[in-house]
Amino acid sequence: MLTTSQLTQLRKNLHQYPELSQQERETAERIVRQFEHFHADEVHRNLGGHGLAFVFSGTLPGPSTLIRCELDALPIEETNDFAHRSNVSGVSHKCGHDGHMAIITALGATLAEHRPQHGRVILCFQPAEETGTGAIDMVTDDKFSQLVPDYAFALHNYPGLALGHVAVRAGTFNCASRGMIIELRGKTSHAAHPEDGLSPALAMCQIIEQLSQLPQTLAEQDLAGKHWLTVIHAKLGEIAFGTAPGDAVVMATLRSETNQGMNALVEQAELLASRCAQQAGLEFNCRYDDVFQASVNSEEGCQRVVNACEKTTIPYHLMDQPMRWSEDFGQFTAVAKQGAMFALGAGVKSPQLHNPDYDFADELIPIGRDIFVSIIEDINGLS
Ligand SMILES: [Zn+2]
Ligand SMILES: [Zn+2]
Repeated sequence: MLTTSQLTQLRKNLHQYPELSQQERETAERIVRQFEHFHADEVHRNLGGHGLAFVFSGTLPGPSTLIRCELDALPIEETNDFAHRSNVSGVSHKCGHDGHMAIITALGATLAEHRPQHGRVILCFQPAEETGTGAIDMVTDDKFSQLVPDYAFALHNYPGLALGHVAVRAGTFNCASRGMIIELRGKTSHAAHPEDGLSPALAMCQIIEQLSQLPQTLAEQDLAGKHWLTVIHAKLGEIAFGTAPGDAVVMATLRSETNQGMNALVEQAELLASRCAQQAGLEFNCRYDDVFQASVNSEEGCQRVVNACEKTTIPYHLMDQPMRWSEDFGQFTAVAKQGAMFALGAGVKSPQLHNPDYDFADELIPIGRDIFVSIIEDINGLS
């Protein structure tokens, strides 16, 4: 067993040396060194990038239970001045993935002493969660074919919810989201002779206006769940008073409670943008970035989290709405069929995730571990 102060120290060490998505080499090394003490039955490295999986096997056949945490930090300059502040300029753990790793390490220490009785437990450290590419890269890695779980669980710390309280629901837990990049191309001309060129200015304005109305239109069509569309950036030509613009870019974040709703949102957004471009005689291109599927909890997965909270007397709430933010954990529940993600309250006064003054609440390390231990005990038994 690792003591609470050892776990807190580990979390603070991870906090001091953050690495961005797809660059988590040293973080993964640090975790591998830590897990050497736990004598996992199998260690899998470089899964979908720097991803890791440690397998703890029982002696009897049974289901595979995967518990996931994340390796990556964010391109945010830390404004805290405590002793464990980030040593890397412009990069810091502002989503609490350092804390999630400490929780799964605590779980590794428990499994080192108490193996599952039947089936196996897979402790998974996922790369590149923040960019939405790590989970899909991991589950589609050939090496993952030996690790496909029957159950998948994860938690995310959650500022705004009382410290140590759990929030969970069956169905969509996190919304689907994706970044849409619309490029319009016309022709520049002298600003004195705009008639010689083809400016995308009006089409750009139409696209921004019509995109903003799209969630309302979809709501009237009664599609599954709620939808949001936020125009986050637009650029027209260059800053040059002598030149009429020849190109424009509009970027928007699309969000939906369901994958089906997201498909409809994407289809209609592309259609209206291409129509506006076509009417203006402009070249049109559309591409996507930061694509997240909805993370969907199964009924049984949710119930197992609830059972664990009841057994460990940890207060829990059943949410009536999904979280609006996105998470790529849904890739794991999609392959496992059963499982759930839940929120673990970081306290009502905690700065929000991705804020420059955020820091993980260390009190959550043993609480998170105890919930996962209880879930594993339920599914796999513990020796
Ligand atoms: Zn994040
Ligand atoms: Zn996160």
